Amino acid sequence: MSEGSFGNPEIVDIETDILIVGGGMAACGAAFEAKRWAGDNVKITLVDKAAMDRSGAVAMGLSAINTYLGEQKPEDYCRMVSADLMGITRDDLVYDVGRHVDDSVHLFEEWGLPIWKQKETEGVPLKDGGKPVRSGRWQIMINGEGYKTIVAEAAKKSIGIENCMERIFIVKYLLDQNEDNRIAGAVGFSVREHKLYVFRANAILNVAGGCVNIFRPRSVGEGNGRTWYPVWNAGSTYAMAAEVGAELTMMENRFVPARFKDGYGPVGAWFLLFKSKATNAYGEDYVVKNADMLKAFAPYDTAAVVPTCLRNHAMLKEMKEGRGPIFMDTPTAMAKLAETMTPQEIKHLEAEAWEDFLDMCIGQAGHWAGMNIRPETTKSELMPTEPYLLGSHSGCCGIWVSGPSDIAPKEWQWGYNRMTTVKGLFTAGDGVGASGHKFSSGSHAEGRIAGKEMVRFCKDHAGFKPALKGDIGAIAEEIYLPVRNYFEHKDKTTAEDINPWYITPKMFQMRLQKYMDEYVAGTSTFYQTNKIMLEIGLDHLRMLKEDSKNLRAKDLHELMRAWENYHRMWAAEAHLRHILFREETRYPGFFYRTDFPDLNEAEWKCFVNSRHDPVTGEWAMKKVPHIDIVEKFYGGQKH
Ligand code: AMP
Repeated sequence: MSEGSFGNPEIVDIETDILIVGGGMAACGAAFEAKRWAGDNVKITLVDKAAMDRSGAVAMGLSAINTYLGEQKPEDYCRMVSADLMGITRDDLVYDVGRHVDDSVHLFEEWGLPIWKQKETEGVPLKDGGKPVRSGRWQIMINGEGYKTIVAEAAKKSIGIENCMERIFIVKYLLDQNEDNRIAGAVGFSVREHKLYVFRANAILNVAGGCVNIFRPRSVGEGNGRTWYPVWNAGSTYAMAAEVGAELTMMENRFVPARFKDGYGPVGAWFLLFKSKATNAYGEDYVVKNADMLKAFAPYDTAAVVPTCLRNHAMLKEMKEGRGPIFMDTPTAMAKLAETMTPQEIKHLEAEAWEDFLDMCIGQAGHWAGMNIRPETTKSELMPTEPYLLGSHSGCCGIWVSGPSDIAPKEWQWGYNRMTTVKGLFTAGDGVGASGHKFSSGSHAEGRIAGKEMVRFCKDHAGFKPALKGDIGAIAEEIYLPVRNYFEHKDKTTAEDINPWYITPKMFQMRLQKYMDEYVAGTSTFYQTNKIMLEIGLDHLRMLKEDSKNLRAKDLHELMRAWENYHRMWAAEAHLRHILFREETRYPGFFYRTDFPDLNEAEWKCFVNSRHDPVTGEWAMKKVPHIDIVEKFYGGQKH
C-alpha cells in the first residue's frame, strides 16, 4: 500500500446467504453441517483472518479431546459443567452440546484423526464399539498434532475451497437499514492486498474465538508472545457482537488456567492420565490441605471434582502465604506408573510425557529441553496464568443466545437455536456464553447446530434483501485511518515508533494490559479488585478509547494489529463492567471482589447480561434469573 492509495482500496462486494466469520473448530463444524442442509440453494461463504489449516485455538494440535460422552449421559455432563462453573450455566445449551458432541468425534476419526484405543478394541472405530483410552471421565486421548488440518480439510471440501476466503480481517458487522436490530453484512480488509471486502448476507455466524492479551501476561520481554490460549484470539467475537447491540452474558467470567510455568503447558494429561499430584513448596497437596476453606463456596459440596477456580483458590492461598512455588510432581507420578511396567513400557511412557506437549504446546517441550528438565527426574513449577476470556474451555463468558426448542424454557428461545439477540446473527464455540466445557469437539458440534439453524433461517427469510446501514466510503476511511495517521505524521520524528501524533498497536496493547492488570484483577494484584479500582480502570479505558483514533499502521499487517487491539479494548470493557456489576466473589481463584469477598447465592445465583446500545453508545446491565433445568427434569441425583 502506498502513501497515496490508503484511502482508496479496491472495494470487493460479496453477496452470500450465510457468512461464517472465523475458521476455527466452530466455523468448520458450521460449514460442514450447513452444507448438508443447504444443498445448492443457500450460498455459504467462510472468511478467516488467517489460514484455516492452522487457525483458531486448535491450530497447534491437541493431545486429548476433552468432551466425549461415550457411556455418560448428557444430564451428567450438564451437572459437571454447572458445578465447575459455580452453578450458573445454561443447561439447555450444555445439554444440546452433550447430546451431539460424540457424533463430531466420530467424524474426526472417520476423517483420519488417530484416537487412542484400549488394546482389546484397537482398530475398531468408536462408533462401532471401539473403546477410547480415557484420561478422565469426559476426556479421551488422541495423536492430535494434525487435528485442525484434518477438521479444516473436511470443512473446505464441504463448501468448496472457492467459498473459503482467507487472510481477510473482519472489522465490524453492519445492521440493516430497513429493519431494526437485523444483521445485514460485514466489512473487513485483506491483510495481503489493498482491498476492502463488503459482505452482504442473510445470516452471519460470529465465531472469531475468545480473547487473549487484554491482561499483562506473565511472559514479558523475550518471552513475550507466549500465552496459553493463542494470541490471535483478539476478542473480535465479543467486540463485534457488542458493537451491533447483541446481548452478552457472564462476561465477568474468565479463565485463569494453572499451567506449567513459562511454557504454559496444559496440566490435564498430567493430572488425569499420569495421576500426578500438585503440591506447595513443602510437598503438601494444597487442595486437600485447604478443603475446609473451599467449603464456603457452594458447588464444592456437590461437585464430583473440585471446581477449577477453587483449585486455583487453594493454590493462591499457598502462594500468597509464602509456601510457593507450586510444583507438579512428575517424578513421583512416573515412578509410580513405572512400578508395574517393563523397561520398554517405561521408555514409551517417557515418550508420551513429551508427546503430550509436542502435540499441542510445542513451546513447553522446548522449555523443558532448554531448562534441562526431564519429567521423570525433575519436578516442574506450576503457575496460575494471566486471565483469558473464552466460552469453550473452563470459562463461560460470551453472547446470550436462543436455546434448542425442545428443552429451552420460553424466555430462552426466540426462534433459532444459537441465534443472538440480533436477528440473523448467530454464534458458537467461544462465542456462546454460560455454557463452557465444550472444548474442541463441543465447539465443532455447536458450530454444526448453528450451521443447520442458519440454513433454516435463510430458507424462512429467503426474500430478505440486505441493505447496509452506513456509508461504505466513510467506513473505508475509518478502517484505514491508522494508515493515514502513519503517513501524515511519520516524518515528524526520527524514531518511527515514538511519536506524539500516533500510537503503535503494540504500545496501545501494553497500555490496555497495564490498566487491566492493575485495576481489573490481573496477576499483579493476585487477581483482586474492588469497586474503586474498577471505576478508575473504566475511566482509563474511556481515555484509551479516545486514543484509539490515533492508532497507527505502517502496513496491512499492522492495520490488523490495530483493529485486533481495538476489539480487545471492547472485550476488556465488557469484562470490567460485568465484574463491577456482580457484587460478590463467584469465582475465587479466577478473581476476587475484595469489597464483596463471599459467594452470595441469595442475590447473585443469576446470569448477568449486558447490552451496548449501538445508537446511544450506552451500556445497560441486568440480572437474569437462573433456571436449573437438569435438576427439574432429572432431579436430585448427585454426580
Ligand atoms: P487442561 O489440560 O488443563 O487444558 O485440561 C484438560 C481437561 O482436564 C479439562 O477437561 C479439564 O477440566 C481437566 N482437568 C485439568 N486438571 C484437572 C484436575 N486437577 N482435576 C480434574 N480435571 C482436570
